[in-house]
Amino acid sequence: MSRIALFPGSFDPITLGHVDIIERAVPLFDEIKIAVGTNSAKSYLFPQEQRVQWIEQTFAHEPKISVITYEGLTVDFAKDQGVQFLLRGLRNPADFEFEKAIAQANREMIPDLETVFLLTSARYAYISSSIVREVYNHGGDFQKFVPATVQP
Ligand code: ADP
Repeated sequence: MSRIALFPGSFDPITLGHVDIIERAVPLFDEIKIAVGTNSAKSYLFPQEQRVQWIEQTFAHEPKISVITYEGLTVDFAKDQGVQFLLRGLRNPADFEFEKAIAQANREMIPDLETVFLLTSARYAYISSSIVREVYNHGGDFQKFVPATVQP
């Protein structure tokens, strides 16, 4: 049976930190589905279509990777997609505490869906989509923190 991971997130926009996690996950799985979520309680800077396109362009050379969109509970979507693993990145203790609670709640709901965490590489650990949005909104050099495909 092939090992399929779902990497859910907002990717508003995709950053070099996300790219690092995804590239390091490629050898671990047969397939990685990057799932761009829409949450009605959240507002996004970049439209979903654009967030998806930037990820597709970033990984155009990697046949194991596909990009999909979803709404609603990540675990429900993971079940619909038939994946066995959820992939998440950890940057710092705050991420750990947050992700731990989500992963434990998810396990209560779907016990056979395993969450796999990769620790971010130190050089990208400070990068977040929210910092990129802040720099972009103020006309700063956000390109340092994102793959070259991100061209708003
Ligand atoms: P969410 O809205 O779910 O937080 P994000 O797009 O911000 O979505 O993040 C998706 C995943 O990527 C999360 O697991 C997050 O911890 C991880 N991530 C975000 N930025 C980085 C980074 N700089 N290095 C490693 N992982 C990261």
